[in-house]
Amino acid sequence: MVLSSMWCKRKCGDRKRIMRLIVALLILYPSVVFSHSLEKQMPNFLQFIEDNSLYEYKNTPLPEIIIVNEKDVCTGAYGKPVDTCDIAGYYNHDTNQIYIRNEPTQYMVQDRFQEVVLLHELVHYLQYMDGTFEIVECRQNLEIHAYNLQELFVDSEGIDEQQKPDPLFALITSMCPNQHPLMFHTEQ
Ligand SMILES: [Zn+2]
Repeated sequence: MVLSSMWCKRKCGDRKRIMRLIVALLILYPSVVFSHSLEKQMPNFLQFIEDNSLYEYKNTPLPEIIIVNEKDVCTGAYGKPVDTCDIAGYYNHDTNQIYIRNEPTQYMVQDRFQEVVLLHELVHYLQYMDGTFEIVECRQNLEIHAYNLQELFVDSEGIDEQQKPDPLFALITSMCPNQHPLMFHTEQ
């Protein structure tokens, strides 16, 4: 009896402490919990990309998903300190990590925002893994398929239309700068 009540005293205290810790973690690190649920969806998203394109997933290590704030996503994507930008996420092939913004950009909305970004970045992941990355004329060309698949995904899942890339923006960001010098304000 003494033993069991002592056990309870210790164990129950432990349990309360653990519960408190879990609650604290949920409050402090919602992004950790969220990225975990995104990770679970990766196989389905890769399947969606395979079903709707020529890209193939060949059991390469899955990327790590990291949720970051605006400043971190901008700074990471530009490679220099930038406070504000419209970048929703990016894939870092050197570290095999997908960075996703914690909140929608000004032109996107909440509706499954991080999933849509993940789908787009997984296209870049496959493009890197299958060598497409090496053969395109310029990096911007990689965006064409990523935007197409993003749009298809939004349509097939019945997600808010706002999550589709803006057609003009998609067109401009998919072009190689050297082919359209006027648009990029460079002199040639
Ligand atoms: Zn992209």
